[in-house]
Order: sequence, then structure tokens, then C-alpha cells
Amino acid sequence: MKRPEIAQIRKFLSAKRNIVIVTHKNPDGDAIGSSLGLYNFFKKQKQRVSVITPNDYPKFLHWLPGNRQVVLFSQNKSEAAGLIAKAEIIFCLDFNNFKRIEDLGELVKGSKAVKVLIDHHVQPEKMFDHVVFDPSACSTAQLVFEFIEMLGKKKFIDKHVANCLYTGIMTDSLNFRINTTSARTHQVAAELIRSGAENARAYSEVFDTNTENRMKLLGYCISEKMKVLPEYHAAYISLSEEELNRFHFQKGDTEGVVNYPLSIQGIVFSAFFMERDGEIKISLRSRGKFDVNRIARKYFNGGGHVNAAGGDSRRTLSETIGAFLQLLPEHKEELS
Ligand code: 5GP
Ligand code: MN
Repeated sequence: MKRPEIAQIRKFLSAKRNIVIVTHKNPDGDAIGSSLGLYNFFKKQKQRVSVITPNDYPKFLHWLPGNRQVVLFSQNKSEAAGLIAKAEIIFCLDFNNFKRIEDLGELVKGSKAVKVLIDHHVQPEKMFDHVVFDPSACSTAQLVFEFIEMLGKKKFIDKHVANCLYTGIMTDSLNFRINTTSARTHQVAAELIRSGAENARAYSEVFDTNTENRMKLLGYCISEKMKVLPEYHAAYISLSEEELNRFHFQKGDTEGVVNYPLSIQGIVFSAFFMERDGEIKISLRSRGKFDVNRIARKYFNGGGHVNAAGGDSRRTLSETIGAFLQLLPEHKEELS
């Protein structure tokens, strides 16, 4: 974002404004961390600010400050619509395509508010008045930090803001290990810790709060459901609705499952299919150059990043897996 643009936003925000922050469906640690980080930053400045998510999110994110103020569109449509109708500026975080916020997208698109995108997914829609976009950033939370820095308002990063942004960075960088984790990422994390982020607590709240059912589901996925296809350097795991029910599935229980097959030597492409609420949710991961964003866009109505993407399918679970198995031979060369 250029300096005059930043100056314009700074000026706009120097008055009391109705601010709305929205993030994507099935929010993850970065979606909630970046949104609540920005929320607490504005709260600290006594702004009128709300966070709206399309639906609910895992319990392991509920410790983040501001969680109780989040408005779930799926449960409070009229409250969310009212907030958007009154909004003067809307921040869209961690998504770049209105399809990702479903019905909420129509309300946001129809609003006259200034629209600001802060995101790191490739190929953003051209629908925003201002954009803070860097596909090489490990997380949207890191970009929210950059945005605050550009505004010259780092002094408002208190413990609450820091815990939220740190959690976004930690979760989306897979604990500082994926290749978009840069020197800058560590520098930002260090500044956040200095501002009060509780790094050990953040890890513990997110990763040491498994239920027995979740651990057993993970074991089942790996021992019973993982299919390895060495000729394509690929592997996949699938779960039907019945299997999820058997393990008393709760939102978030399958988070990260898709990463396990990638740790097998020689595997560069991993897929996870889950049947829920009448659709199939798909998660794709890769190592190296194999571009799963392209695969998600082409075959599964989705998108994301080069090494992490997702999508959905209205076909049955077995048809969806069939489509996956069919695409492998077409991409055999890239996969080897
Ligand atoms: P996950 O597999 O963890 O749900 O998502 C991996 C990445 O792909 C995330 O960055 C997420 O935002 C993106 N993603 C997941 N599902 C979709 C989808 O249906 N459409 C698009 N455009 N991106 C998705
Ligand atoms: Mn993200």
C-alpha cells in the first residue's frame, strides 16, 4: 500500500467510525487471530468495531480476547446485517474471494462502506478500495501487524492484540516451519512477544487441548484411512459423516490431519476429504513446487496457496475421491 493511501486511511480512522471486520467460513487460527488482533487494536482506540464470521470455529480459539463479542452470521443474521448496514469501513481478512463468505458476501458487496482487504492468498478479487496483500507472507496476522506499523500505531499493540496476532502467525506458519516463514515472521513474532504475547500459552491453548475422541480419530485416520500412492508421490485420507459421528466429531477435530501424510518420505501431495452437512470439504497440501492452489481451483471449486489449498464438492464422497484419483495421472510428471 502506498503512502498517500495509508495517509488517507489514517485520516479516515482518526474520527470515530463504525468498523466491521469479516473473515472466511470455517475460520482457522489465522482468520480469528488476525480478526481479533485488529478488533482489539481498534477497541484500544475506543472505536466502534465488530467481528463477523460466517459460522463457528474450533473451541481451541475461544481463549483469544474478544472471542465473546464475535457475531456468527449463521446464528445472528439480523444482528450481522445491521452491523454491515451501519458500517463505514469493512476489513476483509484472510480471504480474497466473496464466495468464501457465502451469503455474508452479498451484504458486504452491497455495502457502501470503504472496503479494505488484508490477505495472503493468491489471485485476489478486484473488489476492494484498499489492499494490503502479500502472497509471500506466512499469515494474514503478519500483514495486520504490517498494516498497524504502516499506520504508525504500534503503540496500540497491547497484550490482547499481541496474543491474537501471534496465534495467527503461529497456526498459519504451522509453528514457524512452512517455507513462507521468513526472518520477518520471526522479527514480528519477537515484537509481539515483547508487547505481551504469551507464546508458550498460545501453543498450549491451541495444541494441548485435544479431547480423547480427537486423538482416537487422528489415530484412526492414519492407521485405517490413509491411502498411500507411491507411484504419484501422493496420499489421501477420507472420512464419511458416519465415521465423524462415531468419533463424536467437533469443529476443529480434523484440523491438521491433511499434514500427516506429507511427512512420509517421498510424498509431495496430500489430500483430505470429509463429508459434512451434505457436502465434501477438501483440503490439499503439497511440498515443493506442486501447486495445489491450481488443483483446488481447477477440480474442487476452491483455492488457497501453492502449498496449502482447499475446496468443496457437491458430489458424493466416493465420486470426489474418484475425481482426485483421476487427476493424478494427468499430473504425474509434476508430481515426480
Ligand atoms: P484448509 O485446508 O486448512 O481448510 O485450507 C487451506 C487453505 O486453502 C487456506 O488458506 C484456506 O483459506 C484456503 N481454502 C480452503 N478452502 C477453500 C475454498 O473452498 N475456497 C478457497 N478459495 N480457498 C480455500
Ligand atoms: Mn491465512
